Amino acid sequence: MSQSKTAISPRRDEDFSEWYQQVVRSADLAENSDVRGCMVIKPWGYGIWESMQRVLDRMFKETGHKNAYFPLFIPLSYMQKEADHVEGFAKECAVVTHHRLELDGEGKMRPAPSAKLTEPLVVRPTSETIIGATYAKWVQSYRDLPILINQWANVVRWEMRPRLFLRTAEFLWQEGHTAHETEAEAIEETEKMLGVYEQFAREYLAVPVFCGEKSEGERFPGAVKTLCIEAMVQDRKAIQAGTSHFLGQNFSRGSGIKFVSRNNTEEFAWTTSWGVSTRLIGTVIMAHADDDGMIVPPKIAPTHVVILPVTPKPESRDAVLAAAKELQKQLSSRPFSGGTVQVEVDQRDIGGGTKNWEWIKKGAPIRIEIGPRDLEKGSVALARRDQSPKEKQFLSMEEAVEQVPAILEAIQANLYEKALAYREANTVTIDSKEEFYAFFTAKNTEKPEIHGGFARAHWCGNPKCEEQIKTDLKVTIRCIPSDATAEKGACISCGNASPKRVILAKSY
Ligand SMILES: [Zn+2]
Repeated sequence: MSQSKTAISPRRDEDFSEWYQQVVRSADLAENSDVRGCMVIKPWGYGIWESMQRVLDRMFKETGHKNAYFPLFIPLSYMQKEADHVEGFAKECAVVTHHRLELDGEGKMRPAPSAKLTEPLVVRPTSETIIGATYAKWVQSYRDLPILINQWANVVRWEMRPRLFLRTAEFLWQEGHTAHETEAEAIEETEKMLGVYEQFAREYLAVPVFCGEKSEGERFPGAVKTLCIEAMVQDRKAIQAGTSHFLGQNFSRGSGIKFVSRNNTEEFAWTTSWGVSTRLIGTVIMAHADDDGMIVPPKIAPTHVVILPVTPKPESRDAVLAAAKELQKQLSSRPFSGGTVQVEVDQRDIGGGTKNWEWIKKGAPIRIEIGPRDLEKGSVALARRDQSPKEKQFLSMEEAVEQVPAILEAIQANLYEKALAYREANTVTIDSKEEFYAFFTAKNTEKPEIHGGFARAHWCGNPKCEEQIKTDLKVTIRCIPSDATAEKGACISCGNASPKRVILAKSY
């Protein structure tokens, strides 16, 4: 059977990782920079990040948080205050050791030996320690609690195998850091913010996620409990899309966040931290894009409708452009659940076909073509990105203005339904070790990258079993689902008694 040609080559089922790189490139989302592991996020990619920021920022504020900003540099001694934490990040820290450059004898710039810092500074891989040191100064009494702060920032985790959006040395994120009077309050906060992430992924990214707790082996360094949302992407691997950590009193002991309690005793505060990053863009690409390129869910699209004027003859050009501008004007004020409709008229002087394919590859939700013949008939040709590139609806201008908001809602809903159906089709319940190993072993050598999925299986709780599965299959426990019901079974690895099922998968 011959396959029709696709805009992205290779296709997803031929070489998923190369397909991913090609989608990022052809959608003009980001590119590698001269600094290894650091990406340049281009306007279309950054526009998606801005949409994500706008929605999340509103959700954080609605749940009582305020934004603040803390230093990029962390004194090395701060990192040492929490042993597990420093151990977890030590291998990927960028360290500043000098504060001045000078010319050496051969006319080349070098860090001046005389300008060596007495204490090296770590470029933040995350900010628990420096924010903890600040909170220690702010908190004296229970009256100073809770502190509910979020920071939008960049962080650096030195990366040996970088991949645009998924793993980069520098990335953008938000990190919430809260301090509370009681353990119960801090746990409630940890769960509440995971709920915010789940809702955001479902309603805005059109990505269904499993919510749950990480096993000890996958926990954030220094946390008592790490909660996460896990999404399935189109090669059936899992991607951790957001985390929320209950830090207990570990960091407040290290940083000295102490307060005089209601009973006049001195207590350590209970803290949490939670974050999502530009990795979400990678998640959206892998979850929704197809063999023709990116598909941006309408509720996070920087542009919802792109109008493509078709101007083959100079004499009709002005009339077509005027009609395109008029349509833009009328559409732009229309509200839908993702805000108001954002419309761009692409007037660039390049071929209509090329232009149309550029926007298909970028994944704009709706494309509208207007040409001289359409003007005569009083109609436009509307195409949806979630349908075949050849499919078009012919509508009058009025109908287009009227229907676009509902079409955007329909695309958003359709993307979610598709992603959910894909995940459900590839999530299985497994009880035998043999079946488990077969599920995660590629059978079809033509499509070695697409196999497996999510397995719901029993685990006894022993880290050794977890380690064995990881060594044998590169499969990890993605989460212990929040809604897991008690169910007696036998561990998929050792056969010992297990109280409930966990979700296992290969992952990014
Ligand atoms: Zn076991």
